[in-house]
Amino acid sequence: MLKSIISLLSLTFTLSSFAASPIDFMTFPDSFECNDKFPHYSFCDAVEFKPWTEAEKDKIKSILKEIDRPELANFYKTIKEKGITKFHRVTYSSTWFPNSKMRRAEFIRQKENTLIWVNPTTNVIGITDKFFGSNNFIDPYTKLPRDTHAILHELAHVFDIAQKHISSEIKSDLGWSWDGKNDFIRDIDYQKSQDEFKEILVYIEQDNTNKTYYEDRIRGVKYGYPTLYSMTNSHECFAELITYYVLDPKAKEYMSQDIQTKLKEILQ
Ligand SMILES: [Zn+2]
Repeated sequence: MLKSIISLLSLTFTLSSFAASPIDFMTFPDSFECNDKFPHYSFCDAVEFKPWTEAEKDKIKSILKEIDRPELANFYKTIKEKGITKFHRVTYSSTWFPNSKMRRAEFIRQKENTLIWVNPTTNVIGITDKFFGSNNFIDPYTKLPRDTHAILHELAHVFDIAQKHISSEIKSDLGWSWDGKNDFIRDIDYQKSQDEFKEILVYIEQDNTNKTYYEDRIRGVKYGYPTLYSMTNSHECFAELITYYVLDPKAKEYMSQDIQTKLKEILQ
């Protein structure tokens, strides 16, 4: 009896030491160093790094707890071993351009401010002021706050980057084809879906972002994808599909069998 308890304990220990929980391996540095080469000073100027407050860290940690799901065990193991594991607190988001004269990448602040971003060249995940300031839309299907989806979506990009953009490799399995000029989703009226996406962006200008979020979901699901946004390109499609495959109990009703099979395969 005692022997079996001991072996059970050691088995539990072995399993837990292999399991990678994002709460344990994701870190929250308070600063970031730029230099005159890479990442150039212009990166730090553009995004404005700042220290975390305890309340902000607690908020992210509680989201990490929510998205620490058993079906993501391999997903987190991959991020822990090969991915970006630092959440930085920033004020803004940025974009880059090549300064050929100086032979370096330089950065400028982006006007449209995203909630959270991943920069694969500087290895930074930035969480902006807007993330903490936005009203928290509750998703009509998952019943979870928008913030929760945003963090898992960004970690799905990290998972993708850690595997040298597996999203490009498997895009055909996720419904994408190439017409010689652009990617498009086959078997649907792709142009119509893109027009609809542009249509719902108008609500943001009218200060009704929640209406955009809502319509994005409802209309995306009609096409068999979690959002219209997920249909804009294959990288966003990959991140959105993983996010809703895991968080949305209704996903199995609207995602095609091919998509579900592929997602299951890459998460295993
Ligand atoms: Zn994204």
